[in-house]
Amino acid sequence: MELLFASNNKNKLKEISALLPKGYILRGLQEVGITQDIPETGASIKENSFLKAQYAYNFLKTKNKTMPVFVDDSGLEVEILNNAPGVYSARYAGIEKNDEANNKKLLQALKNATNRKARFVTVMTLIINDEVFYFEGEVKGTITYEARGHNGFGYDPLFIPQGYRSTFAELPADTKNAISHRGMAVKKLTAFLELLQL
Ligand code: IMP
Repeated sequence: MELLFASNNKNKLKEISALLPKGYILRGLQEVGITQDIPETGASIKENSFLKAQYAYNFLKTKNKTMPVFVDDSGLEVEILNNAPGVYSARYAGIEKNDEANNKKLLQALKNATNRKARFVTVMTLIINDEVFYFEGEVKGTITYEARGHNGFGYDPLFIPQGYRSTFAELPADTKNAISHRGMAVKKLTAFLELLQL
């Protein structure tokens, strides 16, 4: 089955490709002719997830193409920061979407915090045959006092998943995928797609 993954985030693409069972062919935005960044104007992760999927699905329609479209919109929610950066996770330290600057800003914001509880959340939107479906995933954990590790992307060097001592950036990709917000959402998405194909 061919699916359009409506995101330019290569890290997400890599993780999702590793998680999808055989038989799924992922197409990227550029392959279908979407070269500009899809605007993220929603007030929540779910809304942005939907807006991106809708944009790509409608674009395909204008080209008389149909293909199921799915989007991963994710973020980090830190309890003591009233769930910030949340929907602003990518742009926490500015529109440049710089991971290092985001991590630095988060560590600074938590400088005196003893409550370091956080969670990653993903909302995947799937649009198939004009119908919209959502698949959500979350992983709870804590924020470190300094960046550790070089795997992954984004806030991975700062996030220790519950039950582990290592950050996501110190864990092998397979381990992260097995327990991550994204992994959980992909499992729900693929279970649903398998049912549709029965
Ligand atoms: P999005 O492209 O709007 O979904 O932005 C998500 C942002 O949240 C990314 O730029 C990262 O900063 C952060 N993020 C999402 N998922 C992960 C993850 O698995 N690890 C680390 N950071 C993540």
